[in-house]
Amino acid sequence: MMSGRTVVSFGAVDSCISSLRNCQFYISTGMDVATKVALDLVQNHNDAEEVNEMENVMLEYAAMNRELNHYVEAVTGIVNKMKQDKPDTLPDLKNVVEEKFEALESRNNNLDLQRNVKYVIFKDQLKQMKAQVHRQSHSDDIPALEQVDEDIAVTESQMNFICPITQEEMKKPVKNKICGHAYEEAAILELIQHKEQRKKKARCPRVGCNNLHVKKSDLVPDEVLKRAISSQNKQSQSTR
Ligand SMILES: [Zn+2]
Repeated sequence: MMSGRTVVSFGAVDSCISSLRNCQFYISTGMDVATKVALDLVQNHNDAEEVNEMENVMLEYAAMNRELNHYVEAVTGIVNKMKQDKPDTLPDLKNVVEEKFEALESRNNNLDLQRNVKYVIFKDQLKQMKAQVHRQSHSDDIPALEQVDEDIAVTESQMNFICPITQEEMKKPVKNKICGHAYEEAAILELIQHKEQRKKKARCPRVGCNNLHVKKSDLVPDEVLKRAISSQNKQSQSTR
């Protein structure tokens, strides 16, 4: 009889945890949106203050995410302990969870937020977007004589728009966090899967790269490269 009641209350806890996981999904989506908005702001030459505001939004999301993670950790930790110990009487779950949660929160440190995976990607993409905008705005005021070199540079950068696997211009580029090379998302995932089925490691397909193990977890969407490709395509369409 008692054990039956215990199962029911754990069921409630499980559904509570799964709704917390939904919240995590919304936070993750929110961070993706904030990243895109920040990149738009940089691309459209908006002032740095608005971009900084998006950075604060990202840090707020990171803080929410940390709080949720702590709550999930507190709940699952206590539930697992009770499933193991099987106490005769259930303790006051609310109090125990809150205590554990407070203990986890008391160790909070601003560095945790800076280390948030999505925040790290945000910072990196923002830096690259700024560099790209800088290059574009300066290529306009280069005198005609130097234009030749600039053309060579453009050809070089165009080559980076080509996926080393498909040999075609990338539509959904992902960047390898380890070696910095980019590939078409579907193509690299297929390559990794193909190798895994043969119990082999996929090496980076970019010629001359010494990264011998490309993992799915190393790949992040390269929003800046995607924008560079599409803005180049728009340019070449308008000059045609
Ligand atoms: Zn590589």
